[in-house]
Amino acid sequence: MEATQSIVAEAAALEGKSAQDVIKWALDTYGDTVKIASSFGAEDVVLIDIASKINPNFKLFTLDTGRLAQETYDVIDEINKKYNVKTEFFCPDGKALEKASNELGPNFFYDSVELRKKCCGLRKMEPLGRAMASLSAWICGLRKEQSVTRAEIKKVEFFDGKPAKINPLTEWTEQDIWDYIAANNVPYNKLHDNGYPSIGCICCTRTVKRTEDVRAGRWWWESPETKECGLHKK
Ligand code: SF4
Repeated sequence: MEATQSIVAEAAALEGKSAQDVIKWALDTYGDTVKIASSFGAEDVVLIDIASKINPNFKLFTLDTGRLAQETYDVIDEINKKYNVKTEFFCPDGKALEKASNELGPNFFYDSVELRKKCCGLRKMEPLGRAMASLSAWICGLRKEQSVTRAEIKKVEFFDGKPAKINPLTEWTEQDIWDYIAANNVPYNKLHDNGYPSIGCICCTRTVKRTEDVRAGRWWWESPETKECGLHKK
């Protein structure tokens, strides 16, 4: 669906509105062509709970990189059962992974930023491209306070030739997320109880100290400016 002038105007008016208002607008506006993109972190399970209360037929997908933690698969199962949904999986191309492992070894993503981005390209970006092919919009759990790379995000972002990106939680704090999870008894990834505020592939995620930024444990060997996998690049 094209971003008509009225859609752009409605989207601009959502700044300052609640996550519930933003998700309702997205589900009403885009119908079956909007999905929640979930890596099943704390923000994503909040989005799922809110969406389920607005329209139980909401859709969600995940990128199964093949390097996720068992705890992540466990919470996917819990979410599927609790909300009576079927998470749609998009997985990397097996032949491309086989070629990369044979040429570069099993852990080549630690060797340079370029090779780390190559791995994210194979395991995340290519499957994301297939996931997005039929979408008009996707809903994400980005928050401004998560990192320097996310400080300017808007509730709805439009990009030429790409699905609109809906960010209902831009203003939420980490405390807001956990208060919501507790108040609504939302299933969450148990790695969060063990010092992992942000969870991705287990080989590229470590625990963080209280004084560190919540995404400090993602690609911890890189500088903050490079720490995005490409999924949220403009
Ligand atoms: S997070 Fe790490 S293992 Fe996962 S796709 Fe990116 S580089 Fe590869």
